Amino acid sequence: MKLPFIAGNWKMNMSRTEAVAFAREFRKLYEGTDVQTAICAPFVHLESLKGIFDGTGIKVGAQNVHFEDSGAFTGEISPLMLEELQIDFCIVGHSERREYFGETDETVNKKLKRLESTSITPILCVGEDLAMRKAGNEKDVVGDQLEKDLAGLAPETVADMTIAYEPIWAIGTGETATPEQAQDMCAYIREKVSRLYDDEVACSLTIQYGGSVKPSNATEIMAMEDIDGALVGGASLKARDFMAIIDF
Ligand code: 13P
Repeated sequence: MKLPFIAGNWKMNMSRTEAVAFAREFRKLYEGTDVQTAICAPFVHLESLKGIFDGTGIKVGAQNVHFEDSGAFTGEISPLMLEELQIDFCIVGHSERREYFGETDETVNKKLKRLESTSITPILCVGEDLAMRKAGNEKDVVGDQLEKDLAGLAPETVADMTIAYEPIWAIGTGETATPEQAQDMCAYIREKVSRLYDDEVACSLTIQYGGSVKPSNATEIMAMEDIDGALVGGASLKARDFMAIIDF
């Protein structure tokens, strides 16, 4: 049985003081836990978090990366910069990046391909918006994202990576997908990866659900067969809430 993997996505939140206070508190709360966890923080906090979490098993992730190693890309962060800080994970293709910053399946695919030759494990986000779900197209949309985002990636890369199913209508809205809706899509993702690769890759892959996960609904979500973990936004900003989710 796979160890659950619960990651926090802080998005553009937390001052330096708040980030350090969170990390010190969370480090103590996490002691003795065997659920895998990571905090995906704004770039400016990554180094401090690495230092505070050193020796604890708590991993640190970025929320974005560029696909080039260096050059005239003002405001961007290179995979080499993240590697130098020994960052463990990187979220790629979050729906907020797709919606507000022009991220496309093509750029997502380039980023995943670049991360393939680094020590950084991607957390690829996929998911449909409300109109797509209302039209009953959610599986076509997610299936299409997977085909384009994973194109050309080696089986070993996909076997090691995490895919987070985040229905856009459930992000930050307080409206969670039902455990059955989340399970249904996560099972579909596994089946799709199995068709694109094979059963072994599909079984080894970690699949998270994300969208208004909180202490009160984590247990029922984590009970679902194809859900191996959660990607948590708002509820990852308070150490006690995040720990309560990890203790689902
Ligand atoms: P919320 O948990 O705040 O809905 O955010 C989910 C998310 O987007 C995590 O990446």
